[in-house]
Amino acid sequence: MARYTDSLCRFCRRESIKEGGKLFLKGERCFTEKCAVERRPYPPGQHGQSKLKTTDYGIRLREKQKVKRIYGLLENQFREYFHMAASRKGVTGENLLSLLERRLDNTVFRLGFAASRGEARQLVTHGHFLVNGRRTAVASRLLRPGDEVELKQKSRKIQKVVELFANAEKRGLPKWLEADIKAFKGIVKAIPTREDVGTIPINEQLVVELYSR
Ligand code: SF4
Repeated sequence: MARYTDSLCRFCRRESIKEGGKLFLKGERCFTEKCAVERRPYPPGQHGQSKLKTTDYGIRLREKQKVKRIYGLLENQFREYFHMAASRKGVTGENLLSLLERRLDNTVFRLGFAASRGEARQLVTHGHFLVNGRRTAVASRLLRPGDEVELKQKSRKIQKVVELFANAEKRGLPKWLEADIKAFKGIVKAIPTREDVGTIPINEQLVVELYSR
């Protein structure tokens, strides 16, 4: 499986500086003084500190890259989601975010089993979860209302996952999810809406404009 091997913090510095919002790709580290955005608040690379003019295309491209980085997708995967979103009824940008939110790895992260989407994806691909009682290791699986995501019995020994999930409700669950802490289970209650996407500023309309050119 193809994947990015570059530093996640480099991506984060590039996409977050101008918008003023971190992408929180590394879990707990993002809340410490080790965070690269705190230490070097400018884009990476030789020209990171120079004031370069941004074109309209550049603004749209950066927004698309930002959303792609947040959900940890490659270009082709992301484009496929865009086409799926565009072929559905409703507002394409909102459809796109809703599809991305419903991925199994994102759902595991939102339920609080993992500190970052990257961690969640690793847990899923290593087979630690059951969906509706069946083992699945497909991080891109799209969940529907009524689906149940459960940590496998054997995996309940992983201290970090257990501790994170125990505090999931305190950290705040999105409205479209419900957690049953004692049963190590999460339930998808509804299709996520635009408001459920969270606090990172995303202008999905710019992504739509980029792909519609
Ligand atoms: Fe890295 Fe997280 Fe800081 Fe972004 S917010 S630079 S991902 S540590």
